[in-house]
Amino acid sequence: RMALFKLGNVEDLYEIGEILGSGHFGQVREVLERATGTHWAGKFLKLRKAANSRLGVERKNVEKEVEILQSLQHCNIMALKDVFESRSEVVLIVELIRGGELFDFIAAKETLSESDAIEFIEQILHGVEYMHSKHIAHFDLKPENVMLSDKLVPHPHIKIIDFGLAQRLTPGEEYRSLCGTPQYIGPEVINYEPLNEATDMWSIGVITYILLSGISPFQGDTDEETLRNIVAMNYEFDDFHFKQTSSMAKDFIQKLLVKDQIERMTAKECLLHPWIKPLTRKQAASRSRSSINMKNFKKFNARRKWKMSYNMVSACNRLCQLRLLCKAKVKEDEELRQCESDQEDTESKPASLIRRRLSSSS
Ligand code: ATP
Repeated sequence: RMALFKLGNVEDLYEIGEILGSGHFGQVREVLERATGTHWAGKFLKLRKAANSRLGVERKNVEKEVEILQSLQHCNIMALKDVFESRSEVVLIVELIRGGELFDFIAAKETLSESDAIEFIEQILHGVEYMHSKHIAHFDLKPENVMLSDKLVPHPHIKIIDFGLAQRLTPGEEYRSLCGTPQYIGPEVINYEPLNEATDMWSIGVITYILLSGISPFQGDTDEETLRNIVAMNYEFDDFHFKQTSSMAKDFIQKLLVKDQIERMTAKECLLHPWIKPLTRKQAASRSRSSINMKNFKKFNARRKWKMSYNMVSACNRLCQLRLLCKAKVKEDEELRQCESDQEDTESKPASLIRRRLSSSS
C-alpha cells in the first residue's frame, strides 16, 4: 500500500457541510477546516469492499486519481489539498469551486460574443496544455467537468474537474480504453485504438462546436447512432445554426475534429491559432462581431441538464448497445469482462453511472 492517504477521521479536522454535487461513487460536500476556518470541498468516495463486488471504487483507481491530481498544480485545474482514508471510504479535500458549470453560467446570459467565449476556451486550453506537458490526459472533458471558481467576478476563472478517468501516458507504451461519454469521445476510443493527449483535443473541438451553435456535432437519436456518426466523421457546420459564427472559429473546430490523432491540433497549437490569438486587427474584429447562438445554446443546456437526471430505461438500453459494440471490438479483452460484470448492476443507478462504470478502464 502506498502511503498516499492520511489515516483517521476527516471529521476531526473538518466540519462536513452541504452537498455540492454527486458523482458515481459518492458525494461532493462543502467542508470547513476547523483549524483555519477555510472552506474546501470534500469528495467522498466509497471504496470497493471485495474484489468481486460491483459497488464502490477500487482503491487502485483512487490512488491513480490522487497521484495525478497531486502532480497537477495549475490555476485552471482543481487543486488537491489532502486525502483521508478510513476503512470504507477515501475523502479528497479539494479546492472549493463556487461558480458552478461554465455552460450554466453562459446559458444565463443574454448574449455572448465569440471573444467572450474565447476567454473561456483559452483557459481550458491553458489547463489542458499544462496537463499534456506532464503527459497526463483527462479523457473525460465535457461541459459537466468545466467549472468556474467564482461567477460573480468580471472575468470568471475556469477550473477543470474530475480526473477519475485521467491517465498518465508513458511514451512508447500503448493505452487503450473504451472510456468517456459518447457525445465527446474521439473515433480512436470507439475503434479501440491507442489513445493519447490528442483524444482530449477532439473533446475540446466538440465542446467548442456546441458552445458556438448549441448543437452537438455527432449527436444521434441513440448513443449507437452517435458513435456511428463519430466514426464516419459525419458532421457539418449548417448555415442555420452557424450563421453568426466566424470562419476562423469553424477553422479552429475543423482542425480539432480530425480523425488522425497526429493531424489534430495540440493544445499548444490551439493557443496560437488566430481565432484564439489574432494576429491582425481584422481577425480580432471578426471575433467581437461574431456571436454565439444563444437561443439554441440555452435549449441545448436545458436538455443537457434534464438528461443528467434522467430515466433508467434508456440507460439500460444504452448499456446493451454499447456492450454489443464492446463485444464486436475486443472479444477477449479484460475490459469486456468489466462490461459484463457491470451488466447486472443497471437497475437502481443513474444513467451517468452506468455509462461511466461501463467505461471505467480497469
Ligand atoms: P462524475 O461527475 O463523472 O459522476 P465523479 O464521481 O468523479 O464523476 P466529480 O465529477 O468529481 O465526481 O464531482 C461530482 C459533482 O460534484 C460535479 O459535477 C460538481 O457539480 C461537484 N463538484 C466536484 N468537485 C467540486 C469542487 N471542487 N467544488 C464544488 N463542487 C464540486
